Amino acid sequence: MKLHEFQAKHVLSEAGIPIPEGRIAATPEEAEAAASELGPPVVVKAQVHVGGRGKAGGIKLARTASEARDHARAILGMEIKGLVVHRVYVERAAKIAQELYLGVTIDRDRRRPVVMLSTVGGMDIEEVAATQPEQIARGWPDPLLGLQQYAARSLCFAAGVPEEQREHVVGEHVVDIALRLYGVFQHNDAMTVEINPLFIQEDGSVIAGDAKLEVDDSALHRHGHLHAMKEVAPDEEQEEAAKALGFSYVQLDGDVGIIGNGAGLVMSTLDAVRNAGGRAANFLDVGGGAKEPVVKAGLEIVLANPKVRSVFINIFGGITRGDEVAKGILAVLADTKPRVPLVIRLSGTEAEAGRKLLEGAPLVSRATMDEAAAEAVRLASAGAPVS
Ligand code: GDP
Ligand code: MN
Repeated sequence: MKLHEFQAKHVLSEAGIPIPEGRIAATPEEAEAAASELGPPVVVKAQVHVGGRGKAGGIKLARTASEARDHARAILGMEIKGLVVHRVYVERAAKIAQELYLGVTIDRDRRRPVVMLSTVGGMDIEEVAATQPEQIARGWPDPLLGLQQYAARSLCFAAGVPEEQREHVVGEHVVDIALRLYGVFQHNDAMTVEINPLFIQEDGSVIAGDAKLEVDDSALHRHGHLHAMKEVAPDEEQEEAAKALGFSYVQLDGDVGIIGNGAGLVMSTLDAVRNAGGRAANFLDVGGGAKEPVVKAGLEIVLANPKVRSVFINIFGGITRGDEVAKGILAVLADTKPRVPLVIRLSGTEAEAGRKLLEGAPLVSRATMDEAAAEAVRLASAGAPVS
């Protein structure tokens, strides 16, 4: 789960990390009022769940309150990487002398958190990592010990953080902020927490210019206050609906919708689609012993994904019965005519009964998983939606 900048900054602030004072606004008038309250100059910042807002024109400096209103009018409703801006964060502008990068994320290769610090801040960190990897200092704290002060300090030396921000407390210094940020990472079960840029201001004080916090969904139940901040993006709606129904559903980026019974079978189904030259649109396991309503709900979720151009239903019945699967599919077909072709491979318990029920229904049946996968892939790329 991703948080908005203003939410992430709130979490950082609670942990003692200095942030500029700011207000959230949903209208140009609210932005103007916020700017007068804070005292310009202020920055008006689009609140969407993506980075690179600056480059996209979603961040603007305002010297007066009425300028803040005009900027808010321009930014609200704007689309950044496909996401519509509904709110702006109005924040007192920083007096920037230098921009650093500070972040904590999971290093999957090392199976540890990695703390990264760089004096090349404000930019796309992936680009810095690719083009000037030596500019990023990294440390891998032992997860049981956490980030130790000496380790944070040696990161500062390695990155070349100026002495004033390393040693003296002018406001807070970088070592201190790194320790606090690591605490935020740990206490919130975060996947990533990042301050980019971390501003060194003209007076030497250090303050978070931006904040990104991504929390592990599987740990959200432990963090009620974060869960309350959850906003479902349009492209996550299917996943949320599926979760609410108790399905294991993962959205992928292909166009062949997948339904199977049992996680292992669904994994093999993804492979079969891949082997047939196609790309799966999702992973959906309806579980063992799925009855008609569950199959129906599962098929509806897969069909609701606009990227889907064919659906492959792969059932190898053990405790799942072929007749129940067939009834579930027929229930969907009774309600609506699917906009894409359906391909089924039905075998195992009551497969014969299931196939009988499906006789005459508008779907393609194949005897084996590979044949069905090939047909689903062919139909998806043939592209002509059945109308
Ligand atoms: P991102 O592009 O989505 O990562 O948004 P950021 O919050 O990182 O802002 C991008 C850039 O906007 C920063 O690197 C700064 O150069 C600029 N910026 C952000 N806040 C301020 C501010 O308070 N004052 C000034 N002058 N520039 C700012
Ligand atoms: Mn940023």
